Amino acid sequence: MAANWKLQKTVAEAEAFIDAFLPLVKDNSTVEIVLAPVFTALHAAGKKLAGSNVGLSSQDVYPEESGAFTGEVSPSLLTDVGCKYAIIGHSERREYCNESDEFLNKKAKAAQAAGMTAIFCCGEPLEVRESGGTNDLLARQLDGGLKGLDPEKLIIAYEPIWAIGTGVTATPEQAQETHNFIRTHLARVFDDSVAQAMRIQYGGSVKPGNVKELMACQDVDGALVGGASLEPQSFAQIVNFGG
Ligand code: PEP
Repeated sequence: MAANWKLQKTVAEAEAFIDAFLPLVKDNSTVEIVLAPVFTALHAAGKKLAGSNVGLSSQDVYPEESGAFTGEVSPSLLTDVGCKYAIIGHSERREYCNESDEFLNKKAKAAQAAGMTAIFCCGEPLEVRESGGTNDLLARQLDGGLKGLDPEKLIIAYEPIWAIGTGVTATPEQAQETHNFIRTHLARVFDDSVAQAMRIQYGGSVKPGNVKELMACQDVDGALVGGASLEPQSFAQIVNFGG
């Protein structure tokens, strides 16, 4: 269960969240829990999370280690502040920063080379779903983005763009059908045993009230959560599958 805070929370707000959140999930030893603050809060968040059952993720990463790349942050700088995960290819970066599957593949490889687990996002806009092109688009995103990656350090996040931040959630049937397609496709990219073991998160307006039915789907293994991860109680309820 991963919280994507996007462009939100100061250092003090991130620390206050963690202080309130850790006691709520400290007894949960079955769910892998991850927070993805903004870059500026990673160091402080990493210190607060050290030794806890909650991991730290960046929301992005640059594929180069160092050099003349003004404004970018490399994988080893992220591991230096405690990141064990990197979200890669969120639809907002694909759209606003024009990130291609080829570039995202480089980012994921660089993150893995530094020891991080890549949370690789894929998903379709509404017009593609409505025209029946979802599976073709997902196949292209997975083929281009996952080439040569280490499946041991990989999590897939399926995030239909029409469900992100809109309050519209994919129905459990839609989520299951698409996750099943993704898993089948992963068997072609890697092999069947890798595909069966791969975690596939659903993302798109997940809330305490709908997480249980989504998590009941056979091929839904977790969630990537935006809006409902901003409050400690709300995200803790999601981590506990609505309880
Ligand atoms: C996201 O941005 O990854 C996301 C799923 O957002 P939300 O939960 O707000 O739809």
